[in-house]
Amino acid sequence: STDTQTAVRYDRDADGIVTLTLDDPTASANTMNELYIASMADAVERLYAEQDDITGVVIASAKKTFFAGGNLKGMVTATKDDAPDVFAMAENVKKALRRLELFPKPVVAAINGAALGGGYEITLAAQHRILVNDPKIKVGLPEATLGLLPGGGGVTRAVRKWGLQTALMDVLLQGTQFGPEAALKKGVVDELVATQDELVPAAKAWLKANPEAALNPWDAPGYKMPGGTPKSPALAGFLPAFPALLRKQLKGADYPAPRAILAAAVEGAQVDFDTASRIESRYLTNLIINQGSKNMIQAFFFDLQAINSGSLRPQGVAPYKAAKVGVLGAGMMGAGIAYVCARAGMEVVLKDVAIENAEKGKAYSQGINEKAISRGKLTEEKSQELLDRIKPTADPADLAGCDLVIEAVFEDPALKAKVFAEILPHVNPDALLCSNTSTLPITGLAEGIEDASKRPNFIGLHFFSPVDKMPLVEIISGQETSDEALAKAYDVVLQIRKTPIVVNDSRGFYTSRVIGFMVNEGMAMLAEGVAPYSIERATTSAGYPAPVLQLSDELNLELMAKIAKATREANERDGNLDTEHPGIAVVEKMLEAGRAGRLRGAGFYDYVDGKRGSIWAGLADLFPVAEEQPPIEDIRDRMLFAEALETAKTFEEGVITSAAAANIGSIMGIGFPPNTGGAAQFMTGYENKATGEIGLNAFLARADELAEKYGDRFRATPWLRELAASGKGFPA
Ligand code: NAD
Repeated sequence: STDTQTAVRYDRDADGIVTLTLDDPTASANTMNELYIASMADAVERLYAEQDDITGVVIASAKKTFFAGGNLKGMVTATKDDAPDVFAMAENVKKALRRLELFPKPVVAAINGAALGGGYEITLAAQHRILVNDPKIKVGLPEATLGLLPGGGGVTRAVRKWGLQTALMDVLLQGTQFGPEAALKKGVVDELVATQDELVPAAKAWLKANPEAALNPWDAPGYKMPGGTPKSPALAGFLPAFPALLRKQLKGADYPAPRAILAAAVEGAQVDFDTASRIESRYLTNLIINQGSKNMIQAFFFDLQAINSGSLRPQGVAPYKAAKVGVLGAGMMGAGIAYVCARAGMEVVLKDVAIENAEKGKAYSQGINEKAISRGKLTEEKSQELLDRIKPTADPADLAGCDLVIEAVFEDPALKAKVFAEILPHVNPDALLCSNTSTLPITGLAEGIEDASKRPNFIGLHFFSPVDKMPLVEIISGQETSDEALAKAYDVVLQIRKTPIVVNDSRGFYTSRVIGFMVNEGMAMLAEGVAPYSIERATTSAGYPAPVLQLSDELNLELMAKIAKATREANERDGNLDTEHPGIAVVEKMLEAGRAGRLRGAGFYDYVDGKRGSIWAGLADLFPVAEEQPPIEDIRDRMLFAEALETAKTFEEGVITSAAAANIGSIMGIGFPPNTGGAAQFMTGYENKATGEIGLNAFLARADELAEKYGDRFRATPWLRELAASGKGFPA
């Protein structure tokens, strides 16, 4: 019955050591649900009742992860009216932990698996933390990355443990997830053991060796906060600059968590533990009811988790693991693709027209490895193993036995058809055939394969540059692509430790199509006389990683003109009467002026020896700055709305079919501001700051406002209006 159910098992051994085992019987992972809260409270009361017979306490876990953390499902549904309940619940979670911390016998945390957020906060109440030394296990307080703060005592204890400066910079604000070695170095854990079997014995050994260690430093007499309190001279000089530093680091973008964390830490450092803890709960409550935090939780927790566990993968196809991959073209992309495949343990055949090109492509992996070795992140031996898996060649016959092919030759359909024809006689008959094209429709490329029976195996695998760093891969399903090929491609992307999104074939797919609208909007504003510096600053303060004109220089204006031309021709062919975006005229003017971007050493910015200088002085002659300037919110919103409205069209056309794919694809692929939760969440989680109205209708009202001021391209389509009226959102 539920009365006897517990999420915290209690066992006392012959030595008087109690092991509290976190093991929620109702779920596969431990979370801070009501059962946990009640169970932990009961367990702690029992410790106090039996304290004379107890010598120490081990906190252990029976699940794969030590403890998964807070109950995020509950958090995203909490409204402003729920604030008192949220606060009460946070206080409740902490009460038992505080009682455990003050228990007059030592407590040790035996961490067998990931302890992030709420999980790590439990261990902070102990006097000693032991972790299994498995690099896959991460510990730390990543709340900031979800728009939250560690409100289970994490801020209060971290500040007391490390001092304000270290706690903020190294543990709290970045939300760093530490592997075992880094955790030990930082004092995030105190001891490592090699295997799971050694964990609980090591915990008990520590208790036996430290029977007096019952108090955490901050509860012991004579405690002084490391680095001083905010009133001490050392910190008093530094703290006032901190908010400005933080702003600079975030490029002025509005993130909900960092300011709250900073405030909770600094205010909490000036008062006693229990007051600090209440201050922390209050800031946490404010974040939980904040829409910005909910948007981030949606993308960085729910969407990411769904995608990584296969939500966009066709069901019923057996799991696939590629063994040997042929990479065609050893240029910038091919070299990077070869590296990530070899890193994931695949045999790689890297083919180019000449062996010298292929070898140069392989040297790219060597370069990455040498850097990693010099930083102590890779051993010579592992590096050599990785390099030994890459075979450079110019001979198609070397692709014998490949079960996967990824093509990355020049962007030319005839050439792509030719290289596939060359290798098809050699690779496995059922090999998955992928193209890394960034602009050519997949269905058309598939038709270039002469043997029609192979076309269902053909699929787009769109990587981003630089391949070794960018986390996203856009999978493009062509008209003839089979479910089996799609499922295999999905597994391959996860195998190389990247995040897949799945889209249907269309011009520009999802990511390239949508980013084009943001870039065009930036340029259109220039033509209207908006000051270039304002445009640049508005982009980064919206949360985009790079200013839009700078980005345009990187993307190259010649390429944009080429894409605009192809779009124009396609529109004429299809009788599509869309008016051309005003940004395209700016591209053409810049090209006439010989300013195509970084590659040509001249664009919106000047470049000296490949290094970006200041904004080109001649820009003001081409596009004079108007006397009257628009509000910065409008500049920001024009870019955000341009991308969001185009995202809505990709849903309408069936190019993208999942909000998670749009959110993750826009954030990880094309730098849509992370603080929005992604391009779909930006619409459905849109908050009108003036009225407090939240949702698609509020988004449409603002879009109409922009349309009045800046043109009909900001008018939503009837399809999106109907979706809003129906009260539904995009498919998950
Ligand atoms: P690149 O010019 O750096 O490399 C192309 C390579 O293909 C060259 O090394 C060339 O020698 C080789 N090649 C040409 N003919 C060949 C043949 N018959 N057999 C084997 N190799 C041959 O180009 P890139 O930037 O790596 O782009 C490659 C593909 O990836 C293109 O389709 C491009 O659109 C796409 N892409 C590029 C980016 C990017 O940011 N550059 C991003 C996504 C996708």
